[in-house]
Amino acid sequence: MKAAVFLDRDGVLTRLVPDPISGQYESPLTLEQVTLLPGAAAAVRRLRDVGYVVVGISNQPAAVKGVVKLGELERIQARVLELLGGESAAPDAFRLCFHHPEGSVPLLTLECDCRKPAPGMLLEAAEELEIDLGASWMVGDTDGDVLAGAAAGCRTLLIDNPGSAHKRAGFAHADAGVPDLATAVEIIVDMDKR
Ligand SMILES: [Mg+2]
Ligand SMILES: [Zn+2]
Repeated sequence: MKAAVFLDRDGVLTRLVPDPISGQYESPLTLEQVTLLPGAAAAVRRLRDVGYVVVGISNQPAAVKGVVKLGELERIQARVLELLGGESAAPDAFRLCFHHPEGSVPLLTLECDCRKPAPGMLLEAAEELEIDLGASWMVGDTDGDVLAGAAAGCRTLLIDNPGSAHKRAGFAHADAGVPDLATAVEIIVDMDKR
């Protein structure tokens, strides 16, 4: 059994983008908006170098909400993987949930087991990749990330990204709060003595 670090995508690996209507920072919705956060690729490389399986875990409900086409979300994800791969930081696996219980696209509108805070994506990845969840970590920038990680039996770290403060109401208690992914990786490597 291997130890994994599960990583949320937007606000952890990629920059959040201000929504033109609400002004709140959200996931990128066009290819041009996809940029990696400084230090993100190096952090993924370090995790892989010390032996963790790295798995991206992301909710992407913009298509089911009718904001963009599903194909655009798939192109955006491909760009994220291309940017990480270009820096030798491709995760071992990546799982996305495109569902939402209150959507406008019938096929994707459902109460699923994978949308965080549910732990479904972590549980499925653990099964497929033979991951010991108790030896693993979830790193995210929202309460939903922490709740999903805890529900899966992982230790959790919460990144204090200023843009996603509206998604942190303090309902979830992470093992520690950190300013960025690089700091999260320092804590993980230190705690596990890797
Ligand atoms: Mg996020
Ligand atoms: Zn889902």
